[in-house]
Amino acid sequence: MFCVKCNKEEETFDGLCIECFLDGKKLITLPHHVDMERCASCHEYRLSGRWMKRTEEEAIEDAALNSIKALGDLRITNAYASAEGQDEWNYSVTVYTEGELNGRAVKASSGTVVRIKNGVCQKCSRQLGNYYEATLQIRSGSRKLSDSIRDGTVRYVRDRIEHLSSTNRQLFLTKVEEVQGGVDMLLSSISLAKTLAKELSDMYGAETKEASKLIGRTEDGTDMYRMTYLVRMPEYHLNDIVIFEGEAYKLSGIGKGIGKLTRLEDLHVTSVRRSRMHEMKVHTPHDKITKATVVSRSKGEAQILHPVSYATMDVRVPDDADITETMDIAEIDGVVFYVP
Ligand SMILES: [Zn+2]
Ligand SMILES: [Zn+2]
Repeated sequence: MFCVKCNKEEETFDGLCIECFLDGKKLITLPHHVDMERCASCHEYRLSGRWMKRTEEEAIEDAALNSIKALGDLRITNAYASAEGQDEWNYSVTVYTEGELNGRAVKASSGTVVRIKNGVCQKCSRQLGNYYEATLQIRSGSRKLSDSIRDGTVRYVRDRIEHLSSTNRQLFLTKVEEVQGGVDMLLSSISLAKTLAKELSDMYGAETKEASKLIGRTEDGTDMYRMTYLVRMPEYHLNDIVIFEGEAYKLSGIGKGIGKLTRLEDLHVTSVRRSRMHEMKVHTPHDKITKATVVSRSKGEAQILHPVSYATMDVRVPDDADITETMDIAEIDGVVFYVP
């Protein structure tokens, strides 16, 4: 068909070629520049009003694609962008679109400059402002909270929050504070603290207690509370050497409502109900178990150097025990036992 206006032979819209039909208008337009915020702290990007994780390239391209303005009747079916860095903060981006106009396939391209601006997302501004809704207090029953339990719980909480926050940006750890007798973790969410207190209680056989404190009112008059979840570790911990009913055991497992005990005498495994576990007396905490140098090994025995007297002595060891240069021992009333 010939264009009725310019006479060019081309497919026509209402008798006009596409140029004459558009009459100087563009199929797509982009603003001269697009400003995109990047959180200076966590490096997430703000796109269409929401903070999200993106690679820089994806974020820049999305920012340009999100700002396409299409001519009224154009239906865009496909769009992609290609970015070229001018410097660290400015990218020139070309956007290519394919679409349909009055039933005819059309293509168009346009360009803009995406400018990266420093910002702070809400999560980081809260975190930097020490915002918290709940405190998770880790304490010990009687003796001081051991370093390994303290580090273990903090690592557990960090790992869980890292996992949970990948789908919920509101969850974060504001602060870890070592305090007299334990450690406090300040958390951004009450439900998060409650969940973690429950999980730690199950893992360590710990008691939990909660307390709330009114800290004010929101603008619409709702009371605001800050919660405290106390996780009190029992006197015993996993892998401690304990005395129970006059015999020495390794506390080799803690499950819901039950403890697993391995008798040092013969490595026989038995279980004890949670309600009776308070009868166990800790003989050697798990992080204070002695290591002895193994001199040689024969059937059913290992010869070790006593770590204090340096005397050579025989200790009964099961044949399948995995022992190298050292092994864990416990000395109970003058008798040295192998600790599995
Ligand atoms: Zn024409
Ligand atoms: Zn941030």
